[in-house]
Amino acid sequence: AILENKVAIVTGAGSGIGRAIARFYAREGAKVVVSDINQAGGEETVKEIHADGGIALFFKADTSSIEDNRLLVEKAVQEFGGLHIACNNAGIGGPMGPTADYPIDGWNKVIGINLSGVFYGMHFQVAAMLKSGGGAIVNIASILGAVGTRFSPAYVAAKHGVVGLTKATALEYASQGVRVNSIGPGYILTPLLTNALDEAAMEQVKSLHPIGRLGTSEEVAELALWLSSDKASFVTGSYYAVDGGYLAQ
Ligand code: NAD
Repeated sequence: AILENKVAIVTGAGSGIGRAIARFYAREGAKVVVSDINQAGGEETVKEIHADGGIALFFKADTSSIEDNRLLVEKAVQEFGGLHIACNNAGIGGPMGPTADYPIDGWNKVIGINLSGVFYGMHFQVAAMLKSGGGAIVNIASILGAVGTRFSPAYVAAKHGVVGLTKATALEYASQGVRVNSIGPGYILTPLLTNALDEAAMEQVKSLHPIGRLGTSEEVAELALWLSSDKASFVTGSYYAVDGGYLAQ
């Protein structure tokens, strides 16, 4: 087990990619705080981890709330004695439309959750990790943190922001034992995607991946697990795609 004696937080862990990452962390011996705004989804993840023999608890938090982020880190430290790993994964797709018609409240919501949420998270996580002897943060960006697409300006901006923020924070703490990296998944088969796209749109996004299919949450979790572990001890400030070749074109 590569995460023995580690304490981890995963946001948005009640579904999709976050759930897979929480399960992989627990399987490798970490004590995991499963966090989500969706209580039922988060509790289901904890149930699955317990069934696998792992250690986890659920803590409800909205990543766009500063106070919730503070309480989440406090919970990890109180219950499990410190904090070594955080995966800032919670995110939404948001409304779709061209910039001139894009709803302003939709813009604010996407930026609040997908970008400010990552900053609020790290603000408290880094402080706790420094007290715990160091740690690793993995921020879930997107291929849309590296290139654009039409009709999701808020999402594209937020994900580019996460990639930049990751570099900035990584530089600040590189010499103090806190590593910070981001991941750029291609289109992954999760409720975020299946709820937003009809069958024709799904076929279209599939065709954008040279591998010829969408990715799975587990394929993203493999990379998150590695980046979170000491196996990635010389890796910080980086952005890694897991995208079936999408960005290579
Ligand atoms: P998902 O919808 O399956 O899961 C996201 C989870 O985040 C949900 O459980 C949801 O309740 C939670 N969440 C939403 N708003 C929240 C908030 N304010 N506070 C706390 N939790 C909140 O989606 P997913 O596909 O697993 O997405 C996870 C991350 O991966 C997101 O950041 C997403 O942008 C990113 N991503 C997804 C894809 C994809 O194709 N699915 C591709 C690239 C990046």
